[in-house]
Amino acid sequence: MLQQEERRGYDNKSVLGGVDRLLKNVIDRIPLSSPIRGSILALPARGYASLTPSERAEWIRSVGAGSTTRARTSTRRPARTSPTKPAGSLRIAPGESGGLATPIERLSIRGTTAEKIKKIRRNVGPISTVYDLVTHYPFRHIDYGHLAKIATLQPGDRTTLARVHTVDAPFRGNRGRPVRAVLTDGFGRIDAVWFNQSWVANQLKPGKEFVFSGKVGYFNGRLQFENPEYEPATEETLEDIERGRLIPVYPSTAGLPQRTLRRAVGLALTGYVDLVPELLPEWIRSGLNLEAQQEAISHYHYPHDADDYTRAEKRLSFDEFLVKQLVVLARRRLWQSGPSAPRLVADPAAATGFVASLPFQLTNAQRRALDQILADISAPVPMSRLLQGDVGSGKTVVATAALVAALSSGHQAVLMAPTEILAEQHFRTVSSLLGAADDEGPIREAKSSFLERPIRIAHLTGGQKASEKKAVRAAVANAEVDIVVGTHALIEESVEFERLGLAIIDEQHRFGVVQRDLLKKKGQSPHLLVMTATPIPRTLSLTVYGDLDNSVIDELPPGRRPIETRYVSPHDRPRAYNFVREQVQQGRQAFVICPLVEESEAIEAKAAVQEHRRLSSEVFPDLRLSLLHGRMKPAEKDHVMRSFRAGENDILVSTSVIEVGIDIPNATVMMIEGADRFGLSQLHQFRGRVGRGADQSYCLLLADDPSDEARERLDLVVRIQDGFKLAEEDLRIRGEGEYYGVRQSGLADFRVARLTDEDLLAEARRIAVKLLDENPNLDGEEFRELRHQVSEFAVSRNILLAFH
Ligand code: ADP
Ligand code: MG
Repeated sequence: MLQQEERRGYDNKSVLGGVDRLLKNVIDRIPLSSPIRGSILALPARGYASLTPSERAEWIRSVGAGSTTRARTSTRRPARTSPTKPAGSLRIAPGESGGLATPIERLSIRGTTAEKIKKIRRNVGPISTVYDLVTHYPFRHIDYGHLAKIATLQPGDRTTLARVHTVDAPFRGNRGRPVRAVLTDGFGRIDAVWFNQSWVANQLKPGKEFVFSGKVGYFNGRLQFENPEYEPATEETLEDIERGRLIPVYPSTAGLPQRTLRRAVGLALTGYVDLVPELLPEWIRSGLNLEAQQEAISHYHYPHDADDYTRAEKRLSFDEFLVKQLVVLARRRLWQSGPSAPRLVADPAAATGFVASLPFQLTNAQRRALDQILADISAPVPMSRLLQGDVGSGKTVVATAALVAALSSGHQAVLMAPTEILAEQHFRTVSSLLGAADDEGPIREAKSSFLERPIRIAHLTGGQKASEKKAVRAAVANAEVDIVVGTHALIEESVEFERLGLAIIDEQHRFGVVQRDLLKKKGQSPHLLVMTATPIPRTLSLTVYGDLDNSVIDELPPGRRPIETRYVSPHDRPRAYNFVREQVQQGRQAFVICPLVEESEAIEAKAAVQEHRRLSSEVFPDLRLSLLHGRMKPAEKDHVMRSFRAGENDILVSTSVIEVGIDIPNATVMMIEGADRFGLSQLHQFRGRVGRGADQSYCLLLADDPSDEARERLDLVVRIQDGFKLAEEDLRIRGEGEYYGVRQSGLADFRVARLTDEDLLAEARRIAVKLLDENPNLDGEEFRELRHQVSEFAVSRNILLAFH
């Protein structure tokens, strides 16, 4: 069709109803990962029809459908041309690559410098255009206004002007050793050390003066600079010092000195910052007292003073928050604007009857969450809700009540878990909560007190026998099954539902939004509930799960014994091992978590293998140990977890891959090595693996020589049992992005914004809601750039929006 369009000279008449109509009809059939989808979504709001003929030609080429298909580059930055292109537009017109899209090679910098700049690693993609450079933000500034004499240096971020006294370079072939230097300024001397930067030794010539800037800390009781930045004390630097300027320090790469990078960014800023289009309409800016885009960018690089910097930071943070809020909220609109969902309330007595049949009373928090869910699913707008709760807070029970409501209204429901073993666990739990007999086979039947007809529950995972899967699929398609519990095998094409009314996803962070969409597609417009046992701070859930309503179970069922948590100092390690042994002798089981190794899963796995060997041969030669790490195949991992659950081993040595959510009631000890390297939330997750049974459970935190700061963090885990409180502390201490699983969503990657900035995030959300209410497609000139950035972000994350 598009080739036809090309032949006809782009008159938009090759298809009945126009090209936009065609695109609308096909978009759902284009795989989410296809760049074509990106090109379609990147069309302006008024579609193909609004493009000029030459823009249409370029767009068709970018889709790869034209006869003169061009290189792929045009699909990454698809045509967003629009008839009235302002000078500052990022949009690339056919055959043109000027403006902000100018390649950095065109700046007057050396070719080798450009090469190095392209190697800077960033999670927002490499730097290739001047726009990328203009928005390559510094992570801190050197404050030349506050130069300290060496004699007065104290721990913290410091800057000093000093002479290199001696340099101790590692010999060739021993590059792993740090470079050490002694610095003097006539008033004192201090050591400096650089790790993994052997080139430093060639640049620091004894006798030469530099400005050193970076962290000063204690080592062996003496102060030293750790990995400081340094600048030769040139005329220029001395001038900066005289003026007391704030000089940016950028994320860089090996062999690219700050001053070279600074010069490149400076050139880009001088030449191009006034081409950067304004993202926000004037009324939003003035309402929130935000400075203009270009000003904010310039000041964020080169603030005159701290206030300047704060203003720029606020403006750029707001932009980031706003774009992401628009993405999640637009996504939510898209779901909710589809066909209406089935109203799942035919028999409210069923859910109530189920709750009454339980051997315990729901906690207040469970009741509140369940009420919210039941209200949602009895309305025609499809539910999209997140159910958060610490391990053991009773989410599964609440989810099961929702399943009952669905099936009592004559609909089917599905519960999806990220691994076979979790799916199996849910299948068992749900079956037993509903009172099904513990039959073999993938389909069970329950005769309950609260429903006249029997309830049929099925189990579907990739690991099942082909014949079993086939039987389950057939039963599901014929509505002979009410509830299916399984893994992502559920979203395979061959699975069809007769009438799916409710979809529940457990441990949502393990699935992407893509899987969420696929599962939803299995029904007309089913209600959706996602569950997670990873408590995350409110600001983070507003961002990462901002498209969902939030229910929180913040209370544990009564009578739970807190897990006794202790910090174990290195010389108490033998006692800790004895304790583990005693527990095993009483018939219990234990976990040993190996330290986190950031570099790679392979190295981490190797360390775990060694620890397993050491413990098996030297510490617990008489006990049965097994091993779990990330380099094992899913089937192997499942096997290890299964046999541990079956009690075939006493101690499971594992890396951090151990499943969230897995229940091993007989395990009572969680011993965590290198505890100081984990985040508080992750420690809490590990701790949740024990205490699942009736016995008192214990969590032992080990760390060799932790800093005072690390000790304080570990004390928080010792004192606080509430996962949400720990998550807030974690955010306060370490910043965002450290939460297990939220990173890959991309929604938590901020370049400037900080998630502790709750008020600004709330403002951004408020504005986003208002904008979408008034102008759901963000039509109009004043929103052009905003619309473009929202689409671009959504496309880069495979998020389908309602903008087109
Ligand atoms: P989660 O899925 O949040 O980890 P579960 O729903 O699996 O929690 O519940 C954990 C355990 O607590 C289960 O054995 C469940 O039967 C029990 N339980 C759930 N709710 C209550 C309650 N209100 N009172 C007592 N026990 C409960
Ligand atoms: Mg559970």
